[in-house]
Amino acid sequence: EQKQTINFGAGPAKLPQSVLLQAQKELLNYSGLGISVLEMSHRSADFNKIINKSESLLRELLDIPDNYKVLFLQGGGSGQFSAVPLNLIGLKEDRCADYLVTGTWSAKAAKEAEKYGKVNIVHPKLESYTKIPDPSSWTLNPSASYVYYCCNETVHGVEYNFTPETNGVVLISDMSSNFLSRPIDVSKFGLIFAGAQKNIGSAGVTVVIVREDLLGHALKECPIVLDYKVQAEMNSLYNTPPCFSVYIMRLVLEWIKNNGGSAAMETLNKQKSSMIYEIIDSSNGFYVCPVDPSCRSRMNVPFHVGKKEGDDALEKKFLEGASKRGMISLKGHRSVGGMRTSLYNAVTLEDTAALADYMKVFLKEHQ
Ligand code: PMP
Repeated sequence: EQKQTINFGAGPAKLPQSVLLQAQKELLNYSGLGISVLEMSHRSADFNKIINKSESLLRELLDIPDNYKVLFLQGGGSGQFSAVPLNLIGLKEDRCADYLVTGTWSAKAAKEAEKYGKVNIVHPKLESYTKIPDPSSWTLNPSASYVYYCCNETVHGVEYNFTPETNGVVLISDMSSNFLSRPIDVSKFGLIFAGAQKNIGSAGVTVVIVREDLLGHALKECPIVLDYKVQAEMNSLYNTPPCFSVYIMRLVLEWIKNNGGSAAMETLNKQKSSMIYEIIDSSNGFYVCPVDPSCRSRMNVPFHVGKKEGDDALEKKFLEGASKRGMISLKGHRSVGGMRTSLYNAVTLEDTAALADYMKVFLKEHQ
């Protein structure tokens, strides 16, 4: 049975239909074993195959160099806000880290890091999270243990379309909401992390890609389940991993591979987001996206309906009309209001076109 609802949620988010169907087919009897992945020992040979396949697919899709470890951890993106400083702020004696704060998620990460060392916000404080400060205004500390940024701010819809230059200091990126949405050069990073529940699977598993030479510097108070070195040595099996989420991720990675990999995802994601931004920009101010065009996210498009800060009554009407057309989760994050559409990999061109059509009709009726 095909689902009729179109899910534009920010995460957990839409999964490819074929992935859900396969999971359904295999739910009771995985690979002829007579049991479900949900019931399988994480120490079994069969689960090992699943986790190893997830890793090899990721390595292939992102062309991850051999001197990087791939970890599958619990605790979500937020767990990594703590794990990053716990493992890496001690890389240099000063225990200093540079943070770029361009939205809710990097702000939270910086706040968490303050528990473990000195945090330097490298740019002048932003009035609003609608722009990435120009690199010429950054003051990077050459003796920082690392430089941290969030590649795509899910709440504010701000995305970096460049990789920050750190002059040799270890670069760390939260790619939770744009992971595998485009090719990246992993070798430029010390560490990349991403929760799976947006572009590559279901909630529960967080991918960490970390350069080998950065392992082994954890503070003594680092919880053992978050210790990258321990988890790397144990193939992410120090403790029970979120087995079913690892399995769903494997299915999604196979789906990405079968659909042309990260380059094909990039093409599609550009097409989808352009479709929506074009309607916003040609609406004579009826729809307003507050984000500077230089850093508008291809994954999360925030916008107001009616006027700059949004017209509450019209926005309510917009959501009601969308819901009648089977389109859900278009309400913006509670901290910013307005609308937000998330256009992750699994959201199709057709899904996006349905939203675009609706936006045009709504504009005509209410402008
Ligand atoms: N980073 C980003 C960019 C996010 O969008 C989110 C969640 N929406 C997080 C981190 C936190 O992830 P989690 O809820 O898995 O802790």
